[in-house]
Amino acid sequence: MTDWEDLRRDMVEFQIAARGLSDSRVLATMREVPRHLFVGRGMEASAYGDHALPIGEEQTISQPYMVALMTAALRLTGQEKVLEIGTGSGYQTAVISKLADRVFSVERIETLATRARETLDTLGLTNISILVGDGTIGWKEFAPYDRILVTAGSPAVPISLIEQLADPGILVIPVGPRKMQQLRIVEKRDGIIEKHDEGGCAFVPLVGKDAWEVPTG
Ligand code: SAH
Repeated sequence: MTDWEDLRRDMVEFQIAARGLSDSRVLATMREVPRHLFVGRGMEASAYGDHALPIGEEQTISQPYMVALMTAALRLTGQEKVLEIGTGSGYQTAVISKLADRVFSVERIETLATRARETLDTLGLTNISILVGDGTIGWKEFAPYDRILVTAGSPAVPISLIEQLADPGILVIPVGPRKMQQLRIVEKRDGIIEKHDEGGCAFVPLVGKDAWEVPTG
């Protein structure tokens, strides 16, 4: 029988802590969340590898280190209302839901949203709401959000997301050309917006009204 806990402990030690990420709450949470339940059937054995994996619909579950890096950048204390754009498998949603008060997550592909909902329900995570729609316009109904996380690559920061970010607030988003981005951290404080980049990354495109065009054909 596979010892998933051992695989998770190794994942955190050799892929995340070894790269210098030391946020103990993030590390502890990633030791807990069963990542193998978020990948497609038959791929469970690869779930703890040091890479992204396909989840269908040409989308991917992000590499464990990237999930850790983005989650740490959000600097969650447990009190926050978080907006996530790009639910995908729901894995990062699960990680964040354990470190924040409430998560609102938007996914444009209905089949992925439905599957993510089922997995999150199985795990008994009740502080997550999922909307099927275009996340480039945010989720106005519950704004403002203390934190916003976008898990798909965008040509620029969508204006609606800046507007729906609370003050103080932190927004994390991969920004750049279609295949290569910089992980951008946007902080709002006393009405002032500050930005810095945390390094290169490669995400699937953010597709919608205020990002890349919907693929045709
Ligand atoms: N955090 C997810 C990453 C999924 S990949 C995981 O680890 O599983 C990015 C996701 O963003 C894909 O599921 C894609 O369908 C979704 N996406 C792309 N553009 C979007 C948009 N405008 N609104 C909402 N979701 C979007």
